[in-house]
Amino acid sequence: MDTTKFYINGAWTAPSDPAPLDVIDPSTGAACATISLGNARDVDKAVAAARSAFPSWSSTSKEERLAALERLLALYKEGQAEIAHAMTQEMGAPKDYATSAQFDAGLVHLEETIRVLSGFDFEQTRGKDRLFYDPVGVCALITPWNWPMNQVLLKVAPALAAGCTMVLKPSEIAPLSSMVLAGMIDKADIPAGVFNLVNGDETGVGSALTSHPDVDLISFTGSTRAGTLISKAAADGIKRVALELGGKGANVVFADAGEDAVRRGVLHCFDNTGQSCDAPTRMLVERNRYAQAVQEAQHVAETVAIGSAHEPGDHIGPLVSAAHWEKVQGLIQAGIDEGARLVAGGTGKPKGLETGFFARPTVFADVSNDMTIAQEEVFGPVLVMIPFDTEDEAILIANDTPYGLGNYVQTRDAEKATRVARALRSGMVSINGDYLGTDMPFGGFKQSGIGREGSIWGLEEYLEVKAVTGDGA
Ligand code: NAD
Repeated sequence: MDTTKFYINGAWTAPSDPAPLDVIDPSTGAACATISLGNARDVDKAVAAARSAFPSWSSTSKEERLAALERLLALYKEGQAEIAHAMTQEMGAPKDYATSAQFDAGLVHLEETIRVLSGFDFEQTRGKDRLFYDPVGVCALITPWNWPMNQVLLKVAPALAAGCTMVLKPSEIAPLSSMVLAGMIDKADIPAGVFNLVNGDETGVGSALTSHPDVDLISFTGSTRAGTLISKAAADGIKRVALELGGKGANVVFADAGEDAVRRGVLHCFDNTGQSCDAPTRMLVERNRYAQAVQEAQHVAETVAIGSAHEPGDHIGPLVSAAHWEKVQGLIQAGIDEGARLVAGGTGKPKGLETGFFARPTVFADVSNDMTIAQEEVFGPVLVMIPFDTEDEAILIANDTPYGLGNYVQTRDAEKATRVARALRSGMVSINGDYLGTDMPFGGFKQSGIGREGSIWGLEEYLEVKAVTGDGA
């Protein structure tokens, strides 16, 4: 595949103007591919292709769209190694992790979309009235780099299922897996123009898409900063906007939590090198377990394996880029400067890993919730620990954040767990380390976003509902 091209109207197409950008392998710091940064003219072509494909794709039957998704699913499964390798190169997901967690995250959304679509009734009756579900139209899908296939398939699969046409702009930092997926969509015989991919950055392609008069819906996953700008750009045309943004999840560990609760929480925070929007990054621990919990967290941070993403095995990899590494260093330094107690890690690179963008797994204790490291998303392997005395205080601290994506509760008391889960202002709550099923919604309260992705909620984002009364008799 020529990675300098875009996928527009069913063909790999050269950019309007050459604007090369290297994709950097975070394990080595060296370029592993070159893409092109598109511009408004490339966006115009892709949107025009999506617009002209809309009348026919939106009138396909549910069975035709199911068959297309089944073909794509088969190709995605066959291409597991290629997709995983692309993610290892572009964003430093360790080999085995890319093949399992990162690959599977995309797989389950494809499978769940197929399951939901097969049971979905696009025409429903309510007494004497009817509801018709119509595809919204041309969609701009804009994604970040941290869970590439998860985020892309959470959008592409339901948009296809709904009968929408689309232009995908993956992260310019991690575009390779999306280009492999575009090749699969091509092979799956999905008609020309239904799916288009244009690489580019915020100013060249992102803004051109979000302000384009022929785009009906924007589905965006990324930072809250960009979410605000995108909402403003979409406002003039009253575009539909779905936003999945940042998070600063609390993990409330009560004294009666299971023995493994702290260790599990620290490892979860460091998972994907801490680059997950729903990571449990603030560990709140009941006072009489706090000192022991800090020791346990220190031990985990000092012993967790870290290494090149190209090595097999269970370890965490590098941060995604040099710029992101700098940002994480700045936030660790802010923690030190503001007086948090550094118990593990700190600034700099781990010994022996000086070449790539590796960060030291870091734990801060005695953090106060108004410190920068407790309020801002670090997006690195950095845990902050805060003691609490009562259930009410824990809830107050957990909710004292502009975000509201995922929160976590650890206790053996089922009633308390439910009470706390109800009080937490977030789109998702996990109790005692359980993972939500793929038939559940993903999304946040407050500045973590608007709308929900996944399963039936994800499909409905791409549908307008039309209320019809009277039968013409
Ligand atoms: P980012 O916001 O910088 O970029 C995300 C995407 O948006 C990229 O493709 C980028 O080119 C594009 N973009 C940026 N500004 C834009 C603008 N003004 N107009 C149009 N497009 C624009 O985020 P990132 O650094 O790639 O990803 C990390 C962020 O994503 C974190 O804040 C993380 O919490 C968030 N995230 C959220 C979820 C979720 O589901 N809630 C999931 C993963 C990541």
